[in-house]
Amino acid sequence: MARYRDAVCRLCRREGAKLFLKGDRCYKPSCPIEKRGTQPPGQHGNSMRRGKALAGYGQQLREKQKVKRIYLILEGQFRNYFERAARQKGITGENLLFLLERRLDNTVYRAGFSTSRRQARQLVNHGHVLVNDRKVDIPSYQVKPGDVISIKELSRKNVHVEGAWQTAAGRGRPSWISASGGDMSASISGLPTRDDVDRSINEQLIVELYSK
Ligand code: SF4
Repeated sequence: MARYRDAVCRLCRREGAKLFLKGDRCYKPSCPIEKRGTQPPGQHGNSMRRGKALAGYGQQLREKQKVKRIYLILEGQFRNYFERAARQKGITGENLLFLLERRLDNTVYRAGFSTSRRQARQLVNHGHVLVNDRKVDIPSYQVKPGDVISIKELSRKNVHVEGAWQTAAGRGRPSWISASGGDMSASISGLPTRDDVDRSINEQLIVELYSK
């Protein structure tokens, strides 16, 4: 897993957008982006860097960094996802986002078993997540329609999992995931569409970057 030991909120301020890296706090008014806006981190963040509008390569690079940070992906792995997306039929940029969305750690987060992708990755890595009743501890595992994601029975009582599940409806689930409250499970009812992915992402910039 990519490790970033500085305050993760700095990453949001660096990218000028909410990346939802910190769980519950991201949905509260105490989120630094809500309080202070998108001023870049550092003493001269506001006066120097934001003044110059990014263009061309700089803009493309920032967009790639933003998406890598949202999904917690390292450079090499991200490149592999791009190459895989380019080989698929359809629009490469959208294919890339759909591959990232269908990662098991992202699905666990989007289904509402955790309040952040970071927490979701921990749940997967530590063997708490089941796919079709079998333990899967590979965060990059690609879910497919028909899969049922659940949490091991003993782990369902975990306060973080329970708390996340209770507040998930308020955060909203994407159309391709159907949650079942009774047994605390989530079914993959289809494939992600572009409307299910953050509209602030401009995936075309990433395609342009890698097409140079
Ligand atoms: Fe911090 Fe979350 Fe707000 Fe980003 S969205 S600045 S991680 S609280």
